[in-house]
Amino acid sequence: MGFVVGLKCRECGREYQVDPIYVCEFCFGPLEAVYDYKKIKKVLTRKKIMQREKNLWRYRELLPIDGDPQVGLYSGFTPLVEAKNLARILGVKSLYVKDDTVVHPTLSFKDRVVAVALTKAKEFGFDTVACASTGNLAHSVSAHGTKAGFKRFIFIPASLEASKIVASLVYEPNLIAVDGNYDDVNRLCSEIANKYNWAFVNINIRPFYAEGSKTLGYEIIEQLGWESPDNVVVPCASGSLLTKVWKSFKEFHEIGIIKKLHTKVFAAQAAGCNPIATAIKNKTDAIRPVKPKTIAKSLAIGNPADGYYAVKVIQDTGGYGEDVTDDEIIEGMKLLARTEGIFAETAGGVTVAVTKKLIESGHIGKNETTVICVTGNGLKTQEALQGHTSKPHYIPPNMAAFEEVLSTIDHK
Ligand SMILES: *Cc1c(COP(=O)(O)O)cnc(C)c1O
Ligand SMILES: [Zn+2]
Repeated sequence: MGFVVGLKCRECGREYQVDPIYVCEFCFGPLEAVYDYKKIKKVLTRKKIMQREKNLWRYRELLPIDGDPQVGLYSGFTPLVEAKNLARILGVKSLYVKDDTVVHPTLSFKDRVVAVALTKAKEFGFDTVACASTGNLAHSVSAHGTKAGFKRFIFIPASLEASKIVASLVYEPNLIAVDGNYDDVNRLCSEIANKYNWAFVNINIRPFYAEGSKTLGYEIIEQLGWESPDNVVVPCASGSLLTKVWKSFKEFHEIGIIKKLHTKVFAAQAAGCNPIATAIKNKTDAIRPVKPKTIAKSLAIGNPADGYYAVKVIQDTGGYGEDVTDDEIIEGMKLLARTEGIFAETAGGVTVAVTKKLIESGHIGKNETTVICVTGNGLKTQEALQGHTSKPHYIPPNMAAFEEVLSTIDHK
């Protein structure tokens, strides 16, 4: 049996039974899973966690499922890389990359949320899963959904990167490419979710789905030797991941897994889609929706569902929000690749470039420990680098030709 006692409205506090529902009937506030932390505190210890397999289910008491995990048994527990080369260049003492570009079967952090959402969809008895996606969710639901035996309806903006479309289609879902941006797709999906009895992972299953993001935060703390960092930089689309990383830290504090918690939470966005960073800079919690225009398509949500709550977390913890241009995003991708050997997608370029800016502006201190969350693999967004890398040295197959090239280049 699980440890969730019910769902609760984040606005008015009204409580609901565990069901595939997501908004409060009275005030339309979002619903969130509520746990019995007293009970969890009695059963979950560092030792118990460490004895378990290295996947995201090692924190299962803090995830909203009742029975055994059914999906994502090989997802999670990604590396926390001490980024010494990058730290030297950025002029800080202690920098880590939480590297969600690897380990996950579909190579992005979305495998965390999908593991929880599809396990819960099984428990609820759904036979069809669906999602509104900026790309990575489409890939993840397509893959894990077929393995788990679901019918799958996947909705994407038609302008998505070709590699992400192929990466979804290979699992043969019903892929619906909508002529519009993510916010249009999401609006259509909310309508469809009202009419069809499907598990829309980020709509009617959202209170459960979103909890999967907490595992990224639990892992950071465990991998830092059961300590919270001074700063964490999180890329934001809907803002959900950011709020859940903070929730995971607070939960570990609440159940006594860590003694101290002082982390500042920072949001990273693209300048072409920056409603959360803009609200922070304007010192308001009112999110003004934007029309996205950025190469960071996985973060291109102009009207972020959790934007308000993300801003609250940033303000409450003393963090900040920053945004970067498309050119800075590409520079960020190349910098991370060059220094740490990590090939991240455009969202990773956003996080690295924002971190650089936050250090330069003094929002992140030079003697503090900072974790940057790099959430998706660069093979998914290769087209963003077209024309931005050097070219191979083309030669005929002989020694003279090679040595002619050799005489003209700097050895790397
Ligand atoms: C979905 C996504 C995020 C963040 O999503 P939220 O909606 O803010 O939780 C970050 N990085 C990548 C690569 C993503 O696909
Ligand atoms: Zn309410």
